[in-house]
Amino acid sequence: EGKNADYIPQLSRINPEQYGISICSIDGQRYNIGDTEIDFTVQSCCKPINYGIALENLGEDYVHKYVGREPSGQAFNELLLNKKGNPHNPLINSGAIMTTSMLFSEEELSSRFEKLIEVWYKLSGGLYKIGFNNPVYLSEKKTADRNYALSYFMNEKNENKKTGFPDNTDINETLELYFQNCSIEVNTKILSIVASTLANGGINPFTGKQIFSSETVKNILSVMLTCGMYDYSGEFAFKIGIPAKSGVSGSIMIVIPNVMGI
Ligand code: GLU
Repeated sequence: EGKNADYIPQLSRINPEQYGISICSIDGQRYNIGDTEIDFTVQSCCKPINYGIALENLGEDYVHKYVGREPSGQAFNELLLNKKGNPHNPLINSGAIMTTSMLFSEEELSSRFEKLIEVWYKLSGGLYKIGFNNPVYLSEKKTADRNYALSYFMNEKNENKKTGFPDNTDINETLELYFQNCSIEVNTKILSIVASTLANGGINPFTGKQIFSSETVKNILSVMLTCGMYDYSGEFAFKIGIPAKSGVSGSIMIVIPNVMGI
């Protein structure tokens, strides 16, 4: 049940009957059923990954100076900040735009995106090519009034230098990267391997390489458990009880720590 997101026109046209489930255990056993080879854009499933990259590169103290870690209890794109004037957490739109501003920020936009794709490639063990959906990207960019509004809302606070974006943030470039990031394309097989790397404490089950530290993974999974399903996070934690992240493309990335990614 449910219905397609329609605020991004390209997403509203996707066949809602498509359904696939992939699992990948922490020792690399895989099972796939249904439409597991149909590509979809990751949308907000990129948010925990971006948070992880920001933590790895800049540290917890720096990242959480700009973004909180409490659930907001509100919709994913609510025009709302916490009492300090920061976004509530890295998994709602405002917080994800904030963490995006921190991703390889000293580099050109082209290499910033290249580096993000590289992280996705490593998290999925290099078994598949990571794609990009240009029509979804263009469609999302064209209908992004709310994400622009959220960004300027956060930036307004920067005038007194108490909160807002890190210094030297270019809002347009940050949003550009955020839209591109949401338009990264995978299938459920790939996403389950990414989830299994998180289930495995940051070590990819196929390459044996540590992509995120266990400390970073602990933080990612904590916010996924408390904030990953937006205003359904409490209910999801109560009924299902494991870290998960949803995206408006219809994807859900689920992690059972020490067992498997789904
Ligand atoms: N690209 C989406 C947006 O910013 C992400 C939201 C989602 O997937 O939940 O509107």
